[in-house]
Amino acid sequence: MAGEALLRVENLSKWFEVRRGLLAPPLTLRAVDGVNFELARGEAVSLVGESGSGKTTLGKTVLRLYEPTSGRIVFKGKDVTKLDGKELLWYRRETGLVQQDPYGAMPSFMTVYRILEEPLIIHKVGTREERREMVFKALEEVRLTPVEDFAFKYPHMLSGGQLQRVAIARALILRPSFVVADEPVSMLDASVRVEILTLMRELQEKLGISFIYITHDLSTTRYFSERIFIMYAGHIVEKAPSKELVREPLHPYSQALINAIPDPDPENRKRLRNVPPGEPPSLINPPPGCRFHPRCPYAMDVCRRQEPPEVEVKSGHVVKCWLYAKG
Ligand code: SF4
Repeated sequence: MAGEALLRVENLSKWFEVRRGLLAPPLTLRAVDGVNFELARGEAVSLVGESGSGKTTLGKTVLRLYEPTSGRIVFKGKDVTKLDGKELLWYRRETGLVQQDPYGAMPSFMTVYRILEEPLIIHKVGTREERREMVFKALEEVRLTPVEDFAFKYPHMLSGGQLQRVAIARALILRPSFVVADEPVSMLDASVRVEILTLMRELQEKLGISFIYITHDLSTTRYFSERIFIMYAGHIVEKAPSKELVREPLHPYSQALINAIPDPDPENRKRLRNVPPGEPPSLINPPPGCRFHPRCPYAMDVCRRQEPPEVEVKSGHVVKCWLYAKG
């Protein structure tokens, strides 16, 4: 990681209770289980994993939209894990979220203008005139122009791509330091996905905002991030600079994900190993030891018994796997 840390996440867990009727004791779903990472100021990271790996829960827990079960979130040097009241409002202003479904995330009875003005009103920013300028500037930034043509429309009058631009404008209008974008293009037509990702990347760089881009599609991370984190069954199993991770994945699960990306170069295709068969485990009763061991072609005895440590194999490249643990 380059630069000063904006955010430090230490041993963060988020577990949910799953009820099974009145008499049976509840079960525990370990959606996020002991996650560690840092994010530099202005850095973009992609968080990649299959559906059900815990990546959305991790994003929402870091934003304090879910209460952490344990661990710490340190933002700008301040422990925000248990903030409430005014201090939590400060954290809300410093952070933003772009969700997967832009239609579900927008109040259908509000115009685009009201949707964008609302966060400014909540956080008591500017006079009415100043807010108007900020709303119009935000629309320009996401290239919904001429702005007058879009400002007074309702969500149902816009396409999915246009609405996701509004969602991005809303997430950025308070000039947060840190934004989570959760599968922001997975519900959009393939034709607009690259446009939206490129726009987000441009704004992220221009405004110096730190981003976590959550996706199940490793091939889209090339538009976005300096580093990639790979998540499997509630754990981050590998963290590395993006190019290095794609070129030289170390964790057997990361290798499987990279192998699943179609490569137009037949030479590269020859080098690929097969994706391990099977499904990610249930997070209610995850396998002991390494959670990937039932699918891993390299599983050893220790993998079935003991959770692997996080090993920094080279500077900035960390993998959670017994293959790389010394001794
Ligand atoms: Fe495979 Fe063992 Fe590494 Fe897990 S710890 S990925 S089972 S080799």
